[in-house]
Amino acid sequence: MRSVTILGATGSIGQSTIDLIARDPDAYRVEALTGGRNLAQLAADARRLNARLAVTAHEDCRAELAERLSGTGIEVAAGAEAICEAASRPVDWVMSAIVGFAGLAPGLEVLRRGGTLALANKETLVAAGPLVMETARRHGGTVLPVDSEHSAIFQALRGEEMSSVERVIITASGGAFRDWPLERLASATPEEAATHPNWAMGQRITIDSASMFNKALEMIEAKEFFALAPSQIEVLIHRESLVHALVGHNDGGLIAHIGPPDMRHAIGHALSWPARAPLPVERLDLAAIGQLSFAAPEAARYPALDLAYRVMEAGGGAGAIFNAAKEAALDSFLSRQIRFTDMSGVVGAVLDRFLSTERRQTAMADLDTIIDHDRRARLWTKEAADQLAARTGG
Ligand code: NAD
Ligand code: MG
Repeated sequence: MRSVTILGATGSIGQSTIDLIARDPDAYRVEALTGGRNLAQLAADARRLNARLAVTAHEDCRAELAERLSGTGIEVAAGAEAICEAASRPVDWVMSAIVGFAGLAPGLEVLRRGGTLALANKETLVAAGPLVMETARRHGGTVLPVDSEHSAIFQALRGEEMSSVERVIITASGGAFRDWPLERLASATPEEAATHPNWAMGQRITIDSASMFNKALEMIEAKEFFALAPSQIEVLIHRESLVHALVGHNDGGLIAHIGPPDMRHAIGHALSWPARAPLPVERLDLAAIGQLSFAAPEAARYPALDLAYRVMEAGGGAGAIFNAAKEAALDSFLSRQIRFTDMSGVVGAVLDRFLSTERRQTAMADLDTIIDHDRRARLWTKEAADQLAARTGG
């Protein structure tokens, strides 16, 4: 029996993880589940899976969660520190499926105790890649990729030497606006951006798919996880979302990973790694699918991709700045303060501000420095968004 903890259990990835675990109740013992304000879901899952601990991120939700779990013997806690405490408990496997920068500190807790961290929270590697990978190395922890593209690269690399890898190609569906005329993008609403042609995901990552900020994060995530140079990372538009990534070797061979657009494939791969185990996902009928299409991404439609190359070239704190600026710009778009097309300009301005004041740092940033970068970038983003809104009469 394996012990598991799921951070962000109530979200899209968290629920897919629970789906897999609940199918095989004799194989898993659940230590902790964490969530946000969706207390009905959190409590129901904690009961159903007989978790030892349930944690909500919000102090003001503690009493209600305790009430929902009264009489069960399930321990209840609340707040960011309680999530870190849950992450630090020794278990065999932890899913990191919190959305955003809040996932970083609990993930580091897992690695500090030498644990295995299945990482859906890409922000962890974008904001703190060197620190995260070094923490894993020093304490004997393991990071397993769950983002579908990174799981695909990881699978394509099984049995291969990194020394022969020339390039890595990650695919992108193109998101909600891939077929919109460019001039219409400025008027796109959060509701329109939050629909995805191929995947059912949380709201924030779905909007990030439309802007391709999600792909930008994934480029940086790939650089950090697989220790690649920026020039080795390419993005390809692939409308069908069936080829998730390709690895190109120095003999010209390209190893592609093809799988159903169902995150339970990548989650399940990380859950049973290093073995493979049967999964309840669709078996693709390629003859019925017939064709797979590929195209180069248009720079004008997806300015976030160029920003990602700038971040990767700069290194140092640029990832933490980029991640925070992106999260804050998305908040400004969600509150309708700035337009969809303003997000990349705002993030670019914050990046310029950081790179014009900070020397390229070679030393690895510690968590306090990264938290400081994150805080500063959110302030700067708000300033830039406020200025823009004032100028455009928003
Ligand atoms: P989601 O919004 O559906 O769920 C997020 C979870 O995090 C919820 O349990 C929520 O309660 C919790 N949470 C939110 N804010 C929190 C905070 N401040 N502190 C603690 N917990 C908090 O998100 P999702 O789509 O499941 O994505 C989770 C992560 O996985 C993200 O980093 C996303 O980029 C990544 N990811 C998601 C998918 C997907 O298919 N959904 C695919 C690849 C990667
Ligand atoms: Mg992905």
